[in-house]
Amino acid sequence: MILVHLRFYEELNEFLSPERRKVRFEKQLLLPTTVKDLIQSCGVPHTEVDLILVNGNSVDFDYRVGDGDDVSVYPVFETLDISDVTRLQERPLRRLRFVADSHLGKLVRRLRLLGLDVTFDKHVRGRELIEQAVSQKRVLLTRNRQLLMANIVQRGYCVRSDQPDEQVVEVIRRFDLGNNLKPFSRCLRCNGLLKPVPKEDVLHRLPPMTRETYDKFFQCQNCRKIYWPGSHFEKLEQFVETVHRRFASKRNTNHQLKHSD
Ligand SMILES: [Zn+2]
Repeated sequence: MILVHLRFYEELNEFLSPERRKVRFEKQLLLPTTVKDLIQSCGVPHTEVDLILVNGNSVDFDYRVGDGDDVSVYPVFETLDISDVTRLQERPLRRLRFVADSHLGKLVRRLRLLGLDVTFDKHVRGRELIEQAVSQKRVLLTRNRQLLMANIVQRGYCVRSDQPDEQVVEVIRRFDLGNNLKPFSRCLRCNGLLKPVPKEDVLHRLPPMTRETYDKFFQCQNCRKIYWPGSHFEKLEQFVETVHRRFASKRNTNHQLKHSD
């Protein structure tokens, strides 16, 4: 019998049963195990964990838990300076690409609107979704933490909120993407990149009113869908502005110096 003590910090507590939140608790193990399996057996996906201290020393996921170990588990926290210990999630996160699971269609449209690369197919689920994330080196976005517990998943994020606008803020904050947004650069329908296109090239595909009213057009390089600053454009701009503002205030409360504008 192996007896260990565990304590989870910050938002990792959201994954625990109520009596285990924000307290040090005891766990008995019948068999030796890695600290990764120990953490996931408490309901916390490994993709959410960035730092593990055992008896005060940082360890990686393969550490084998011993009798009497005292385990502290910390989330990914971009603003915390812990550079001299073993951080478990890869960084810097340049050119981050995502794949979202089938329940996150509204989040996907919003992320694409902000210019983020997110693939999405509502028919791709479970194992197939995991394999897509791994083979394409994409961060898996899901509300299903069981998916994130699969051993082969290296990077993922468990979306907490069920409100799409709130989910957007979660993703931007978690991956520190505030300075990497390029609104209106990506097709909302297929994730392709948009490029300006001369009006005369698309004239035959425009509704008569649009033909008369607008002069600036963009086309998806993948599905050829045409975009222009139509009546819904203002609403989209408002959304982008709200996200920027929302994110700026979050960053201020985190006492960060970087700014997105
Ligand atoms: Zn497209």
